Amino acid sequence: MNAQQEFICATPDGTAPSQPGAYSFADDIPTLENFTPVVFNVFFWGINDENGNSAFPLTENTALSAVAKMNIEFNPFGIFFKYYGMDFFDSEKYYAIDRSELYPPAPNIFEYARDNNYKKADAFNIYVPYTTTGFAGAAEARKKTSLVMNGFSIINSHPLLNHETGHCLNLKHTFVNWHDNACEHVTRDPANQHYNANKRGDSITDTAAMPDFKDEHYWELRDMGYTPEEADSLAIPYKYIDPVTFAYTGTGKDCQENPYDIYPIDVKNIMTYSPAAPQYSKKFTTGQKIRMHEAILEDSYGEFGAAATTFAALYEPYKGSYPLYYPHVQPWQMPMFQPGFTYDFIECCCEYIQPAEYGDTNFSVESGHVVKHVDKYLTLYNQIYHPNHSAIIIHEIDQAFGASSVQKCYDNYQTPPILGGKVIRFNDNILNANVTITPKDSTQITDPELIDNLDNGLYKIETNYGNGVDEETVIYKTGD
Ligand SMILES: [Zn+2]
Repeated sequence: MNAQQEFICATPDGTAPSQPGAYSFADDIPTLENFTPVVFNVFFWGINDENGNSAFPLTENTALSAVAKMNIEFNPFGIFFKYYGMDFFDSEKYYAIDRSELYPPAPNIFEYARDNNYKKADAFNIYVPYTTTGFAGAAEARKKTSLVMNGFSIINSHPLLNHETGHCLNLKHTFVNWHDNACEHVTRDPANQHYNANKRGDSITDTAAMPDFKDEHYWELRDMGYTPEEADSLAIPYKYIDPVTFAYTGTGKDCQENPYDIYPIDVKNIMTYSPAAPQYSKKFTTGQKIRMHEAILEDSYGEFGAAATTFAALYEPYKGSYPLYYPHVQPWQMPMFQPGFTYDFIECCCEYIQPAEYGDTNFSVESGHVVKHVDKYLTLYNQIYHPNHSAIIIHEIDQAFGASSVQKCYDNYQTPPILGGKVIRFNDNILNANVTITPKDSTQITDPELIDNLDNGLYKIETNYGNGVDEETVIYKTGD
């Protein structure tokens, strides 16, 4: 399997012009910083075969890692994603998806999902079949919230998921129409009579005019007279890209014969096709970030507004719950938080036996005492839970709003009622079966003098709590 070939996107760029008034074509930082941060739910659907099996089953870990990738890429410009859960459906037809099964008029995965209630209206929907043929990922359409990606690519391609999400948020490929007379011209000077960067190509003014790097050599061969079959077999993908420096080494020209002016940062744009690069080194431009925010505000199909949620939701666990008492029943699913954010769980006070409401700032924090720090790249997801006696800081949210926020103090010193217990003496002063057991009622087992009044020796003290927990303490009492 050729990994580069596998990570192909099938989303069509389409011909619809930009909606008048909805788009500024700006590419400056102050414009970008004016947008209000937003959060979207993301829901995952694993597609199994007709018997409910998959050779590449979607796992919660895979879904969480996908949302983390999206957040790490999009958070710096104010777009956030809440992991909203996952489910499965069985479909022999869409367990493996061919490129011809993506779009109307053919029966296609997106319509099938909608018709069978496999689409959450209040979320982005990511469909994960076992495998795909002729593509690796595809968005349903620009300005819509559904996309499909095979499980292998979700795990192994870092930028493709963000590329498809970029399509959902109304981005086109950077090279649209590069090989015909409707091409984007090289000039970036708005005063130049040939300037068309805001109308042609991807209609983004700070992405360079550029070819499709993957297929540039193929079209060079076709222009030389080779048949499609010959060109297909001879073409070298990414022939004019240095795979180390990402420099463009070709001599290509736009349709007015002006040589391309392309830098590595253009090659490594998320909306190009280019060779694999180090994680998170492919980027969106400021103009693309503005376009995505403007698409969210325009919301042509109403899907973005429906999928949006609140920032408060990011301070809610995606699974698990907060114990009412300590010690708590074992095992316990602790309140788990999604990866991809930088968390500080910071010591707080007092007496929030369940977490404070979002926005409640009446608790106090020991700002110097971070109970647990979580890096946004942490891959040990089972460590990302909200510890007792702490409140939550999510640094990416603070950065997006330019303000600091400590939320959801959880400070629980409750213990369940004690029903009783027993003192077990090991008569040989080793842990064996030669024991003397003395039952105790609730007053006796909680007597502060209990240990003082024991003779020297080895004991196990068992306390029985009303919530079904039995706590055991082994002590070895000596004359001192
Ligand atoms: Zn694409």
